[in-house]
Amino acid sequence: MTFQAVYTSEEKIKEIRNQFPILKEKINGKPLIYFDNAATTQKPQTVIDAIVNYYSHQNANIHRGVHTLSQKATDAYEYARKKVATFINAPKSEQIIFTRGTTESINLVAFSYARAFLNEGDEIIISALEHHSNIVPWQMVCEEKNLQLKVIPINDKGELLMDAYESLLSNKTKIVAVNHISNALGTINPIKTIISKAHAFGAVVLIDGAQSVSHLKIDVQTLNCDFFAFSGHKMFASTGVGVLYGKEELLNKMPPFMGGGDMIKTVTFEKTEYNELPHKFEAGTPHIEAGITIANAIEYIESVGFEFIMEHEQHLLQYATQKISEIERIKIIGTAAHKASVLSFIVQEIHPYDIGVLLDKMGIAVRTGHHCTQPIMDRFCIPGTVRASFAFYNTLEEIDIFIESLKKAIAMLK
Ligand code: PLP
Repeated sequence: MTFQAVYTSEEKIKEIRNQFPILKEKINGKPLIYFDNAATTQKPQTVIDAIVNYYSHQNANIHRGVHTLSQKATDAYEYARKKVATFINAPKSEQIIFTRGTTESINLVAFSYARAFLNEGDEIIISALEHHSNIVPWQMVCEEKNLQLKVIPINDKGELLMDAYESLLSNKTKIVAVNHISNALGTINPIKTIISKAHAFGAVVLIDGAQSVSHLKIDVQTLNCDFFAFSGHKMFASTGVGVLYGKEELLNKMPPFMGGGDMIKTVTFEKTEYNELPHKFEAGTPHIEAGITIANAIEYIESVGFEFIMEHEQHLLQYATQKISEIERIKIIGTAAHKASVLSFIVQEIHPYDIGVLLDKMGIAVRTGHHCTQPIMDRFCIPGTVRASFAFYNTLEEIDIFIESLKKAIAMLK
């Protein structure tokens, strides 16, 4: 059966694409083909409208105002929090902390939880597949508190070596922090197993869900993770907002990450009493309209449906993988058995950057470089890759154009 034959949803894709105005853009005179979704996703009209609506009808500071606008803005912001809680099946919306993004969410756990509760000699386990955001905060806290950082190695396909993970675990392990999906290679990690094995040693687990939350249905209670972090802009909402989900008992015992307005109950020069969850972790005026757009993005994702998203993105990945494998001198980096719609590759003797520049001239947006995962590039002894990452609004036709353009680029660079 051909990919075209099994693919029956052309009308739906057309309808979806109509909701994303930017997909009608021309880049260098060519229709935009946007394959940089792992870096950030495009925004549907409903998210764009929400931003305009906010500044046209709702703009006011939240949580502290008695006036109508402030209450409107607060209601919209708090509605988004409830939406997020339902979306990832958190028991309570108070367990949803709004941050600026995945990076800040991970830093919050490192500099609140790890700094307060880990002691010299304790160990933190991360994996060789992590984004710098899930490496550097742990290194910083390890240095400060004399902790040990251990790394789960990977095989040549870019899969975690689970036996090695088990041998790293011990009673010294206090935190395990791994991503759900690797942004550089697309590997989907077996996080449920990772979480239960860590719990057997009493460690808490943070899942970096930056790459998974818009591709897979997340249920934090079924996963039983202790923390789950993600970014709004990678799930069709605005930049500048992210989420940290945490188990209530952990969030309650953690000290605040930053001090300032909104995170306090009372302040005197002698002593400050901190606010309840979630406000304890939300110092200062947040990115209000960005937070609000998370609700619109979730409603949009739900209207498309995860069943469709997962099936269509897998088609795109398989189709692109098959087509690209037919091109000489291409090597795919990241060939895990379980992969999300990320296709990283190198072309022998050609720098990824040169491919990226030529593809851009042909209207195609891909990312080139180390993708904030330098240790992965070192593992494969390469300077970087070309990465095409697909979302549910991408099409098989776009992949055909990408493949032909790639062949042209390679021929030009020979
Ligand atoms: N973790 C992963 C797996 C990512 O892909 C990214 C961004 O690419 C991040 C963390 C950091 O996300 P942000 O820059 O939105 O904080």
